[in-house]
Amino acid sequence: MYDLLIIGGGPAALSCGLTARKRGLETVIVSADAGSSWLDRAERLDNYPGLPAVSGRELLRIFRGQASDAGCSFVTGVARQVQSLGPAYFMTLVGNDILESRAVVLAMGAARPKLLPGEEGLLGTGVSWCGTCDGMFYRGREVAVVSSWHGGVEEALFLSGICSGVDYYALAAHELPEKEGIRLKEGRVLGLSRAEDGRSVTVETDQGRAAYAGVFVFRPAVAPDRLLPGLEVDGAFIRVDRRMAASIPGVYACGDCTGQPLQVAKAVGEGNIAAISAAEDLGRAG
Ligand SMILES: Cc1cc2nc3c(=O)[nH]c(=O)nc-3n(C[C@H](O)[C@H](O)[C@H](O)COP(=O)(O)OP(=O)(O)OC[C@H]3O[C@@H](n4cnc5c(N)ncnc54)[C@H](O)[C@@H]3O)c2cc1C
Repeated sequence: MYDLLIIGGGPAALSCGLTARKRGLETVIVSADAGSSWLDRAERLDNYPGLPAVSGRELLRIFRGQASDAGCSFVTGVARQVQSLGPAYFMTLVGNDILESRAVVLAMGAARPKLLPGEEGLLGTGVSWCGTCDGMFYRGREVAVVSSWHGGVEEALFLSGICSGVDYYALAAHELPEKEGIRLKEGRVLGLSRAEDGRSVTVETDQGRAAYAGVFVFRPAVAPDRLLPGLEVDGAFIRVDRRMAASIPGVYACGDCTGQPLQVAKAVGEGNIAAISAAEDLGRAG
């Protein structure tokens, strides 16, 4: 059981982790992928105090090194779902594992996953974002995996052990699975729809269509109010107060995911505040 679980791998998450450790919190940082922070793409920053003309990648390396030296644990994977199970008790599904914590910080950046046409309406009734959670519903049946990143490969391998066959559709270029039982499909995915039998789901591409008992969609990000049902948002951003507390007790948010300005200095400052607030609320103010 961690004191604090931070979702994100950018400056907000790393700053939050650093301060959380200084406050004595057992802290884990869960992030989708090395290099997935926006900061990694910034060629040169001229507005981060103390480090003129630094590259985004170098700044990220320094932030991460500091958080690591302070004693943060790191887990690579997409947080798919956070459940609030009572005072100071959260369970977070990361890939196929469950992590427990007393508080959660959302530092997921501003990137919003763009859903496929038809995807949202079919979610939970033939379309799933989690192989571990829902794979067994499709035992011995044909399913499709639609994935924008290599995380879908692991899921397809898992599903191929349960389902009779897996068709794999890549939404973007990434390393593809090679295993018996997994068939790589050509074509650009246009959308998902209910099949004529009223139960299966059809994947439509520019080269044709095929129906499956279930369709699993994987991306390296999840919209905040999907990740944590009941979380209040303001349009695309998570609603927070000045302590960076979100609408659910024990949940905090920082960085680009709380709104403008989308800048490193603001992300770092908010990460620091979120950690202090979490420490105070967990009785570790010292
Ligand atoms: C090209 C470019 C140039 C820029 N130049 C500047 C500049 O000069 N000055 C400046 O101040 N700012 C600049 N920025 C903006 C700056 O990079 C962002 O404001 C900053 O990175 C925000 O930090 P963050 O930690 O909030 O989010 P991010 O850095 O975006 O990090 C979010 C992290 O969360 C992870 N994540 C998201 N969802 C999940 C999930 N469900 N599970 C696990 N992990 C998840 C992502 O993979 C990512 O690692 C620039 C941005 C870009 C793209």
